[in-house]
Amino acid sequence: MRMGALEAGGTKMVCAAGDEAGNIYKRIVIPTKTPKQTIPSIISFFQEERVEALGIGCFGPLNLSKDSLGFGRITSTPKLSWQQYAIVDAFQKGLGVPVFIDTDVNAAALGEAVYGAGKGKEMVVYITIGTGIGVGVCLNYKLLHGLVHPEAGHILISKRSDDKYEGVCPFHKNCFEGLASGPAILGRWGRKAEELGGSLEVWELEADYIAQAITNYILAYSPNCIILGGGVMHQKELYPLIQEKVKQYLNGYIVHTALERMEEYIVPPALGDDSGIKGALQLAIAQL
Ligand code: ADP
Ligand code: ZN
Repeated sequence: MRMGALEAGGTKMVCAAGDEAGNIYKRIVIPTKTPKQTIPSIISFFQEERVEALGIGCFGPLNLSKDSLGFGRITSTPKLSWQQYAIVDAFQKGLGVPVFIDTDVNAAALGEAVYGAGKGKEMVVYITIGTGIGVGVCLNYKLLHGLVHPEAGHILISKRSDDKYEGVCPFHKNCFEGLASGPAILGRWGRKAEELGGSLEVWELEADYIAQAITNYILAYSPNCIILGGGVMHQKELYPLIQEKVKQYLNGYIVHTALERMEEYIVPPALGDDSGIKGALQLAIAQL
């Protein structure tokens, strides 16, 4: 069966054609302009590839409530031309095939859970630390939803007394994203995260916040594996710092051999740039 996958991002649209085994055999990248300028070329690609179903991992916020009238719309995005855009409807009408959608973070989480670092694990928590912080939770290859979907990048954590930065999240004073995203690092230290390599105090504090959040995810979800990626995690020295601090925060409370081998438990994504597009493909595969 020919399946389509779309990774819809704020700057680019990755379109791929693949099969039900998760192989991708063709892909193109289209810059994200307005829907009118962008969507027709994506539709043409999928028509030429004769896809029989489409999975979309999309920037948000999204309406994912299946029983609501606005299901499958991009809602209050700062990208004005995409506000209230009915993306699922556009592809269903344009292609005449079933269309499945989830957030970009959830798609990447699913890609890693099924084909990447989480393969074979029952409960996978995927975290991306970039411009924002996103978390996808995947149990037996199914993403957690409920009311909307977890927004675990905004969990509240303890701000350290030596940290005078007020946080970058407009909603919460001391949430994970507000204190530890790329823009939070820039706001606190006055320089971009990628320019701060080698500054131990920067990464020690960053690792502390990431470890607090991960400790909470371990306590809440009991994951078999934690996959930690995103632009900020290009600072590879963060991994050992985080692994050590998670051990300290757990303080021996949860007993399992996996937690004794933190370097195999808290790991980088295995699919590189392909987590999102493979996950989008899997969104369609899983439903059919
Ligand atoms: P986005 O979240 O926008 O999709 P990324 O995951 O690449 O994209 O995250 C971008 C953020 O990552 C920026 O805040 C940037 O400062 C930070 N970043 C990018 N490269 C590095 C690096 N090598 N080291 C630390 N931070 C980085
Ligand atoms: Zn927040």
